[in-house]
Amino acid sequence: MEKHILFVDDSPTMRSSVSFCLRNAGYRVTEAVDGEDGVEKVQSMEEKGESLSLIITDINMPKMDGVGFISKVKETEFKFVPILVLTTVAEESVIKKGRDAGASGWLMKPFQPEQLLWAIKKVVWPK
Ligand SMILES: [Mg+2]
Repeated sequence: MEKHILFVDDSPTMRSSVSFCLRNAGYRVTEAVDGEDGVEKVQSMEEKGESLSLIITDINMPKMDGVGFISKVKETEFKFVPILVLTTVAEESVIKKGRDAGASGWLMKPFQPEQLLWAIKKVVWPK
């Protein structure tokens, strides 16, 4: 089955570089520009009955931040989809909030392609 990843980040540069890396590695990628847009994308996937293998999200975003977005995803049928956070935020309190909301992993920017692909394999397909 096709591996479909939702990537949520308000930076156009991040969106294009991360998406390029993921598509290059053979993943199908849907992009969202902030948490609110991410929730809309998730709802539309639910309606269309699409599959989703993984979500990667930023934390600092306008309208709805990554922690708020993660909490919303947990109210949908995609609640068991692993969520990786990719962020500049290293504060323990925020990491804890993300973990409590349901994040599966935390990666620090700057974005390292090999590290991201390794983390994806680790979280999504552990065997
Ligand atoms: Mg951001």
